[in-house]
Amino acid sequence: MLQKTSHFMREANLIGGQWVQADSGATIDVINPATGLKLGTVPKSGKAETTRAIEAAQKAFESFKKTTAVERSKMLRALHDAMMDNQQPLAELLTMEQGKSLTESKGEIASSAAYILWFAEEARRIYGDVIPSPWGDRRIIVTKEPTGVIAAITPWNFPSSMLARKIGPAIAAGCTAVVKPASQTPYSGLAWGALCEEVGIPAGVVNVVTGSASEIGKELTTHPLVKKITFTGSTDVGKMLIEQSASTVKKVSMELGGNAPFLVFDDADLDRAVEGAVTAKYRNSGQTCVCTNRFFVQAGIYDRFVEKFAKASGALKVGPGLDDGVQQGPLIDDKAVEKVEEFIADAKAKGGKVVTGGNRHELGGTFFQPTVISEATPEMNFMKDEIFGPVAPIFRFETEEEAVSMANDTEFGLACYFYTSDLGRAFRVMEGLKYGMVGVNEGLITTPEAPFGGVKESGIGREGGHQGIEDYLDTKYVCIGGLGL
Ligand code: ADP
Repeated sequence: MLQKTSHFMREANLIGGQWVQADSGATIDVINPATGLKLGTVPKSGKAETTRAIEAAQKAFESFKKTTAVERSKMLRALHDAMMDNQQPLAELLTMEQGKSLTESKGEIASSAAYILWFAEEARRIYGDVIPSPWGDRRIIVTKEPTGVIAAITPWNFPSSMLARKIGPAIAAGCTAVVKPASQTPYSGLAWGALCEEVGIPAGVVNVVTGSASEIGKELTTHPLVKKITFTGSTDVGKMLIEQSASTVKKVSMELGGNAPFLVFDDADLDRAVEGAVTAKYRNSGQTCVCTNRFFVQAGIYDRFVEKFAKASGALKVGPGLDDGVQQGPLIDDKAVEKVEEFIADAKAKGGKVVTGGNRHELGGTFFQPTVISEATPEMNFMKDEIFGPVAPIFRFETEEEAVSMANDTEFGLACYFYTSDLGRAFRVMEGLKYGMVGVNEGLITTPEAPFGGVKESGIGREGGHQGIEDYLDTKYVCIGGLGL
C-alpha cells in the first residue's frame, strides 16, 4: 500500500514553483472514507495565498504564451507518460482519499492521461482563418490566442480527471492555471503539481491551492488577472461563481449537476440494458453527475427488468476500495449517507418498494447497500433532486411520449441513456431528449474525443472533443489594409 512518504502525496501548496504552507500555518485534515482515519493534512490557504498564485500564473504566462505548439504538445505527452508510469501509486492515493475501488481509480488515472494526450494532439491544431476580403486592398485573418490565467475549481468525485480536462486544454492553448481541488480529496489535485514539476513544465504554469473554498473562490472569480473560470461541482455553487465572475466579465465554463434518466423500452435487449444500468448507476457508488438518477421502464418489460437489475445490484461486492474484487466503495462522508437515507424514507412513505438493499452496509462507516426501489412516482424527491448515491428508483411508463416527457421534466440536462432495438424510436427519442449527452444502448459514454457537457442548468461549455479547447482561446480578427492592390 502507498506510504505517506509517496512523493505524490504533497501536504503543501504549489505556488510559483515553490511548495509552501498557508501563511497562518493552518491545515485541513484529509480523511480516508473507508477507514474514517486521518490520512494527512493540507494547507488551509485563503485570499493572500490565492493572490500570490494568480500573480505567479500571470508572470509565467508572459513567457509561456510564447512557447510553440510543438513544445507544449511535448510537455503534455511527457505528462501523459508520467501519469501512466505512475498509474498504480496515483490510483492508490485516489482510492485512499476518495473511496472508489482501485479498479475505478486506475481507470480514472488512465482517463486523466487520455485527456492529456488528446490535448497534446489538439495543441497542434489550433487553427485560425483567412477570410475572403470584401476589400481589394485589405486582407482579413483570424488568429487564436491563449486567454491568459485560468482558474479551475474541482469536486471530490473525480479528483484527478476533472482537473485533466482543465489543465490539459489550458497548457495546450498556452494558458497558465491556478487550481483549487476539493478539500475532501486534495492529494490527487496536488499530485498534478508534482507531476507537472517532474516533467519540466515551467514553474508557475500550474499552481495548486487548497483551503477555504469561499475565500479562494472569491479571489479567483474577482481578481482582474484571471480571465476564465472553469468549475465542476454543484449547480448552486456554479451559479454563485457565475455571479461573482460578472464583476470582471470573465469567461465561464460550468459542469454542474445532472438528473440523468435511463429509459428502457419494451423492445430493448434486456440483458444489455441491465448491464448498462449497473454501470450507469453504481459507478463511484452513484456519486457522479452522469450517474442515472431515474430509471423509466416500459410496462411490458418492467417486472423482468426490476428482477434482473435488483439481482445484479445485490451481487455487487461492497468494501474498502483497496481490497481485491471490490466493486463499490464507501460514500464520501456521513452527510452523503444521511441524504441517501432521506431519499429512501421519502420513497417508502410515498409507496415505493425496496426490492434490494435499502440500508447502511454491515461494514459500517459510510458503506451503503446498492438499493433498488420499484414503483417510483414523480412525487418522490428523486424525481427532482440528485441522489448522488447507490439508490436506483424505477418508474413505470406506458408510451414513448410519456417517457420522454418525464425524462425532460427537470431543470437539468447533462447525460441521459435509453435502450431500444427500434431504429425509428432511437432517432425520435434521441432528438426528443433535452440533454447534452445521450447514450443509446450504452451506459458509459465519456471519452476525451467527445464533448462532455450539459444544457439547461447543467452547465455552460464543453470539455473534451475539439470543442474542449475553445474556451481557453481568444479569437482575434486582424484587418491588414493599405496593401495598394
Ligand atoms: P459537491 O456537492 O460535489 O461537494 P460543491 O459545488 O460543493 O459540490 O464543490 C465543488 C467544488 O467547489 C469544491 O472544490 C468545493 O470546495 C468548491 N466550493 C464549494 N463552495 C464554494 C464557494 N463558495 N466558492 C468557491 N468554491 C466553492
